[in-house]
Amino acid sequence: MAIDTPNEAAVLPILSHYINGTAVEVLPEQTGPVYNPANGKVIARVPRGGQAEVDAAVEAAKAAFPAWRDMPLIARSNIFFNFRALMYEHREELARLVTRDHGKTFPDALAEVLRGIETIDFACGLPVHMSGMNTPNVSTKVDTETLRVPLGVTAAITPFNFPVMVPTWIYPIALMAGNTVILKPSSHTPGATQLQAELWSQAGGPAGTFNIVYGGKEAVKAIVEHKDIKAIQFVGSTAVGRYVFEEGTKRGKRVGAYTSAKNAMLVLPDADLDLVADAAVASGFGSAGERCMAQTLMVAVGDTGERLRPKILERIAKLKITDGMEPGADMGPIYSQEHRESIVKWIGVGESEGAELVVDGRKFQGPNPDGFFLGVSLFDNVTPEMKIFNEEIFGPVFGIVHAQTYEEGLALINGHKYANGTAIFTTNGGAARRFKLEVDVPMIGINVPIPVPAGFMSFAGAKDSAIGDLPMRGEDGVRFWTQQKMVTERWPEPGKEGPLSLVFPGNS
Ligand code: NAD
Repeated sequence: MAIDTPNEAAVLPILSHYINGTAVEVLPEQTGPVYNPANGKVIARVPRGGQAEVDAAVEAAKAAFPAWRDMPLIARSNIFFNFRALMYEHREELARLVTRDHGKTFPDALAEVLRGIETIDFACGLPVHMSGMNTPNVSTKVDTETLRVPLGVTAAITPFNFPVMVPTWIYPIALMAGNTVILKPSSHTPGATQLQAELWSQAGGPAGTFNIVYGGKEAVKAIVEHKDIKAIQFVGSTAVGRYVFEEGTKRGKRVGAYTSAKNAMLVLPDADLDLVADAAVASGFGSAGERCMAQTLMVAVGDTGERLRPKILERIAKLKITDGMEPGADMGPIYSQEHRESIVKWIGVGESEGAELVVDGRKFQGPNPDGFFLGVSLFDNVTPEMKIFNEEIFGPVFGIVHAQTYEEGLALINGHKYANGTAIFTTNGGAARRFKLEVDVPMIGINVPIPVPAGFMSFAGAKDSAIGDLPMRGEDGVRFWTQQKMVTERWPEPGKEGPLSLVFPGNS
C-alpha cells in the first residue's frame, strides 16, 4: 500500500468543499487520503471539514433559501431537467470516479448512476406531488386547504458504497421541494460527489442551494447540532444512524436514518434452481457484497440447499475478480484495507462458530498485491445462533442456512434484528403471495434478488435497518422534505356578519 506522506499530498489533486456555488480550497494538512482500492495508491486528498465549514455552508444555504423557495415551480423544474441531462451526459465519467474510489466494476458503477438518475426524473415532476387539497364550504362561507411548503436548510449524510445513487435518492427531492441542502458524503468515495455539485451549478442551480462539506465525525456532529438545520436524512451504519437520529430529534429536527442490513432469501423446493444460483452469486458477491440490499444469506427449504450448493460452486469458480475497470470483471476489490481486514476476521468467526467454510476467500491472490482484494467466501450449515447469521459483514461472504419448512424459514427471517430487503424464490404464486403478506421485511423480491424499488417509489427498511417514521424518496420523500399547512379561510361580507359569539366554531 502506498504511504500517505506530506510530499505526496503536495502533488495529489485536492478536492474542495463546495459552498455557495464555489469550490473552497483547503491546505494539504487539512485533508486525508483517498485510495484507489484496486492498487492501494493514494489518488487524491479529501478535506476534513468540521464546524467552520458546516457553519459557512449553513449561512450560504440560509441566504439562498428565500429566493429558491419562491422560485416558480416550473423554473425550478427546468433546472432539474438541465441537471438530469448533464448527469446523463456525464454518466460514464461519474461511473469511472465511482469505480476508482470504491472498486466496484465499471458496469456496476454505471448502473448505480442510472438508478440515481431515476430519482432525479421523479424530482423533475415534483410539482404534481407537492399539490395539496382544497375543500370549499366546510362551514358557512368557510373553505379549507392543505399546502406543502419546504422546511428550509436541510442536510444529507451518506455512506461510501453508493457515492452517486444514495445522495441522488436524497438531495434532488429535498431541493425540488424548495429546501436548500448540505451534503456530507463519505470521505472514502468523494470523487463523484464533487462532480455532482459542479453539474448542479452548470444546470443553473443557484449558489448556496446545494453545498458539499467533506469530513467525518466532526462535520456530522456540527450538522446534527446546528440550530438552523431543519431536517436530515442519513444513510449508513445503524450505530451512527442512531446517534444522528437521537441527537437530531432531541434538537427538534426531522430525521430519517436508513441503516445496516443482513438480508436473507428464502428458497422453496419448487424454485428454478439455476435462476436461484445465479441470483445468489449476483446478489451475494456483486459489488463485493457491499450493498445494503444484497442477500448474503440463503434460507433453503428441504433438500434445496444440497441441490444448490454445486450450482453455486460452479458459478463461483468462474468469477473474475480484478480491477473494476478491466473488461469482464465480475467483482472488484474491497473499498478499504481496514474493511478488508474486518471481513477476514468475520470469516474466522464463522469458522470458529462451526459453520462449514466451503470456499475461503482469504486464499485468493489479487491481480495487484497492493490492492485490497479478497476472494468470495461460502459458508454452509449456518445456524441462527451464529454471529455470521446475525451481524452485518458487508463483504463477499455468503451463508447457506437449512430449514425444513416454509414456516421455519419464514420464522428465521422474521426473527432477525435487521429487516431491509428479502426475497422468495418459488414457482408457486400462492406461496409467493403468502410470503409478501407474512414476511416482516418491507422491501421484498419475488424471484428478484436485489429488490431495490424503482426511483419514484419509497425506500426504507424496518427494525434495526431504519430509524424514524418516514421512508426516503417517492411520496414519502415529498412528505419528509415539506411541512404541511392546514388553512381555514373565510371572506366575510361587510355588514352582513355577526352577531359576536364566544362559542367554539362549529362546522355547520
Ligand atoms: P458509516 O456509518 O460508517 O458512515 C456513514 C456516514 O456517517 C459517512 O458520511 C461517515 O463519514 C459518517 N460517519 C462515520 N462514522 C461516524 C461517526 N462515528 N460519527 C459521526 N459520523 C460518522 O457507513 P459506511 O461504512 O459508509 O456505509 C456502510 C453502511 O451503510 C452499512 O451498514 C450499510 O448497510 C449501510 N447502508 C444502508 C443503506 C440503506 O438504505 N439502509 C444504504 C447503503 C448503505
